[in-house]
Amino acid sequence: MHSDSPLTVLKGVGPALAKKLEKLGVFQVDDLLFLLPLRYEDRTQLVKIGALEAGRRCLVTGEVLLAETVYRGRRNLLVRISDGSGQLTLRFFHFSRQQQAQFQPGIHITCFGDARRGKTGFEMIHPEYRVLRNNQDAAVSDSLTPIYPATEGLQQGRLRSLTGQALQQMADAPPQELLPSAVTRKLGMPSLGEAIRYLHRPPPDADVQQMLAGTHPCQQRLAFEELLAHYLSLRRLRDLAATEDAVALTDGNEDVGNFVGDLPFDLTAAQERVVADILADLAQPHPMMRLIQGDVGSGKTVVAAIACIKAIACGVQAAIMAPTEILAEQHWRSFYHWFRPLGIEPVWLSGSQRAASRRESLAAISDGQAKLIIGTHALFQEGVDFNRLGLVVIDEQHRFGVHQRLALRDKGVSVDGHPHQLVMTATPIPRTLAMAAYADLDTSVIDELPPGRQPVATIAVPETRRREVVERVRSACAGGQQAYWVCPLIEESEVLDYQAAEASYAMLTEALPDLRTGLVHGRMRPAEKERAMKAFKEGLIQLLVATTVIEVGVDVPNASLMIIENAERMGLSQLHQLRGRVGRGARQSHCVLLYKAPLGHVAKQRLTVLRDTNDGFVVAQRDLELRGPGELLGTKQTGLPEYRIANLVRDSELMPQVQIAAEVLREKSADRTAAIVRRWLGDADRYGKV
Ligand code: ADP
Ligand code: MG
Repeated sequence: MHSDSPLTVLKGVGPALAKKLEKLGVFQVDDLLFLLPLRYEDRTQLVKIGALEAGRRCLVTGEVLLAETVYRGRRNLLVRISDGSGQLTLRFFHFSRQQQAQFQPGIHITCFGDARRGKTGFEMIHPEYRVLRNNQDAAVSDSLTPIYPATEGLQQGRLRSLTGQALQQMADAPPQELLPSAVTRKLGMPSLGEAIRYLHRPPPDADVQQMLAGTHPCQQRLAFEELLAHYLSLRRLRDLAATEDAVALTDGNEDVGNFVGDLPFDLTAAQERVVADILADLAQPHPMMRLIQGDVGSGKTVVAAIACIKAIACGVQAAIMAPTEILAEQHWRSFYHWFRPLGIEPVWLSGSQRAASRRESLAAISDGQAKLIIGTHALFQEGVDFNRLGLVVIDEQHRFGVHQRLALRDKGVSVDGHPHQLVMTATPIPRTLAMAAYADLDTSVIDELPPGRQPVATIAVPETRRREVVERVRSACAGGQQAYWVCPLIEESEVLDYQAAEASYAMLTEALPDLRTGLVHGRMRPAEKERAMKAFKEGLIQLLVATTVIEVGVDVPNASLMIIENAERMGLSQLHQLRGRVGRGARQSHCVLLYKAPLGHVAKQRLTVLRDTNDGFVVAQRDLELRGPGELLGTKQTGLPEYRIANLVRDSELMPQVQIAAEVLREKSADRTAAIVRRWLGDADRYGKV
């Protein structure tokens, strides 16, 4: 038997089963070795019922005291067991008469399941169970039980038997070691074969805690290789870009100089550095692929504007894409303000645009009259035909994944080649994680805020003390400050959103009749919104009640107090973004997070993080730990291949070594590089195939 033998050489595998296995990415015998357990179950010890802990999955044994069916909306079978240390209720919703008859008082059973606290002590819902015959002992496993990724119609037992067969044949034909030996030696890693065997069949003396946490050296060995595979795959994209053509944007330095000179502020040193990176990239005859990371308020927009000036001066079109209409509108306003005096009017394109205006935009985009185009995803949909697209700016990149990035690159392809790409994110992520997630991009960081920004003092206050908070708004505004009152986004519903904002607005105008109070929400027409924002900016409005539309782009230095309602419902990064609207003037700013008690565990942690830090990198790190990388990087929506064993949060400190290994491989062995990518990404290696 060979490692690349078809699955059907295995005992019990016919064409039907082979099809099911293909769904798990298993095409040949060797692939089974890399079908790694998702987690482990600990059946190595019996837990006393008296010592159960809620939420723990465990093995117990006991004597049946009683079995009865009750009606709680539907039929439930309840089985009460005892092991002398306490009693446990097993609850079944689906059961056969035969099953029911099995549970005779006096018999002994073992069961395995999640212990949870019920009304009358601990319960297990639908545990796995086994009836013990003739005082047979409960069978305790001598090692951890691997749990494989499931697919319909494939039982764990079957997967265990198949991986067992694959392991057996691995003894004669171990999978090829693809990591450079210099790397494995240096890191003191177990061999590939050893690691694979260990993960599929942890020995009895395996460190249970380590295995459950995923930190065992054998797990880390495979996580390392998997991270390397993803990294190499993304790096290949970057190499690809270096072989593609793009218009070298070399003219226009004077326009850039004038634009920067006319700004009402000096660029920060960090902005200057990033602008230099971008201009150097743009001058190359290959497409730029650059990511700008910068905390909220660090001034990314103006950096993007400079890139656009350069592109337009060189005679190509520039397009700016934002993930939401509101964000796109904010950009439209900023760019209109900057570009109008230069005789360049930005063209708008969004999904909700009226047909006539859309037609007009499309015509201008295709005949080249539109130099600067701003919009949402609509920019890259069917029917949009750019005349000569030279630069694409993508804002808030964390909401777009690698596949969107690729789609955009292809969309803009013309006789001149690919457009240059600049992606910007306000969710700075830890450096090691960025290495893994953005290996296809060059990265620049704006690690400095414009001068005069002060940390915002943040407190969390329960809703029951709303009155004090209203009082605080009164006295702040009486002292000449301005304030935001932010109402939550309600389940993504603009209508409810707007109603909540209206209600708060009514409450506040009644409680604070002497204040000039305004309202903005997502359902207002752009002109109305603009008017309210302008009045706030000019100080005509003292208190601005708003939905999260102000999350981005609003800039009023005199506003120094922000109240956020239902802060417990919002994500960390969103709260951080909102808070970034204050702290822009000379005065100490404050942010009050109003919450509805009781706070859940995670919500409490979120609010604590905000209270403790103003640093976007720290916020992002904590957000990552609390939510996981999928949410943060937008991979949930974008289908970035899931990792089998690596966990970006847990394992990202491996990245510097991964990067070194990648360089060694890329230099020495194209074959091995390809083999590693194939082994771990298989068909999912879509990065390099677009
Ligand atoms: P973000 O990085 O969050 O997108 P913006 O680009 O919206 O930040 O910039 C926030 C505010 O700071 C804007 O009003 C912008 O005009 C202003 N700004 C940008 N750069 C500077 C600077 N170097 N000095 C002073 N203000 C600046
Ligand atoms: Mg921005």
